[in-house]
Amino acid sequence: MWQIDVDKDKCVGDEECVNACPAQVYEIVDGKAEPVNADECLGCETCVEVCPEGALTVTEV
Ligand code: SF4
Repeated sequence: MWQIDVDKDKCVGDEECVNACPAQVYEIVDGKAEPVNADECLGCETCVEVCPEGALTVTEV
């Protein structure tokens, strides 16, 4: 299992994670990234790498 944390103060809703995630984990909700399908996360950290704001962390739990 992977825990996804979005720092909503940093997120600008640019959809980089939405477009990069191979598992369609994210949607933009109220202008911010929301990991609506967190159960599908593969732990690849692609979203962490593509986020220009450094708003995402993915942690194995
Ligand atoms: S770690 Fe990979 S699978 Fe999980 S949300 Fe980020 S891009 Fe998607």
